[in-house]
Amino acid sequence: MKAVVKSGTGVGLEYKDIPKPVPTSNEVLIEVKVASICGTDINYYNWNQSAKDFGESFDIKFPFVIGHEFSGTIIEVGSAVTTRFVGQRVAIETHIPCGKCFQCENGEAHNCANMSVYGTSCNGCFAPYAVADEKITFVLPDEVSFEEGALLEPSGVAIRAVEEAKIQPGDTLVINGCGPIGMFVVMIALVSGAGRIIAIDMDEYRLRMAEKMGAITLNFTKCNTVEEIQKLTKDRNGADVVIETSGSEKAYETIFDMIRLEGRIVTVGNPSGFVNINWTRNVNLKGASIKGIFGRRIWSTWHHLTSLITAKRVNLLDVVTHRFSFAEYEEAFQQIKVGAGKILFINDTKGNKDDG
Ligand SMILES: [Zn+2]
Ligand SMILES: [Zn+2]
Repeated sequence: MKAVVKSGTGVGLEYKDIPKPVPTSNEVLIEVKVASICGTDINYYNWNQSAKDFGESFDIKFPFVIGHEFSGTIIEVGSAVTTRFVGQRVAIETHIPCGKCFQCENGEAHNCANMSVYGTSCNGCFAPYAVADEKITFVLPDEVSFEEGALLEPSGVAIRAVEEAKIQPGDTLVINGCGPIGMFVVMIALVSGAGRIIAIDMDEYRLRMAEKMGAITLNFTKCNTVEEIQKLTKDRNGADVVIETSGSEKAYETIFDMIRLEGRIVTVGNPSGFVNINWTRNVNLKGASIKGIFGRRIWSTWHHLTSLITAKRVNLLDVVTHRFSFAEYEEAFQQIKVGAGKILFINDTKGNKDDG
């Protein structure tokens, strides 16, 4: 079969023939229907500092098939699989818990001490077929399409950010960074009771998308965002909550000036360098609450999200702007530089059946 492969530490990827995967005893074989490009995949394409850091933390071994956000149908199960069967429509949880550490034994498997990462520590899903341990598969409700299924992983981060931000009815929320996760945050915060939503970015394409969804937008290259937020929140002198999704060190240095006294900050984006914060002024005296998150809760996040989808409270596809085949991967990655929301790969190769 042909797959999108990262072969080494250079820039770019390859579309090349690799053997079709065979499930081990605990794995299922999935025919991939839809996959989606994540920020991590873009880092791998560029092989930047974030990719290097991530690769070191989660044991990258070249070459590997990239991609981790996808949905598909189970077409074969390993000999020891007991909870899944052929024909089930599934998506997968990227963060693979060990099941044995303190966190795993105490309801915190989402932050497993021995976590491995799908599409990083093992082969991913930018291919017609992928294998996954049955324990990381999530069965899609009938109402959730394959395209929506491929978006559950990234939008799961967004719904978790909103939950951890403990949004109260009417809260003013700042979303710093309008990439796909920031956009999913706008969408989910709106149905979770947020009042004003202020979205910040420099990319006009993305700001227009956020505006369409109902956010007030600020281009940080064209205004002083802290001053604008002060003006918009005169009654409380700052936002109730900031959700940081940009991962920029500079942004981390300003988000503390955006919240009101006793405000909350949830951080999602990962800066690659160190961040300077005036801890006394911005955290202690301010009474700030800070919560960092990495990934979703297993499996509560997935159920909360699919409940919103089946009730038609959110339409994840509003964030999708482009669709490509795996063979067009180069075009897809180039599109991101020009302007894009979420980009999907539709597996129209029928599994590359001819070349197995
Ligand atoms: Zn992802
Ligand atoms: Zn564990």
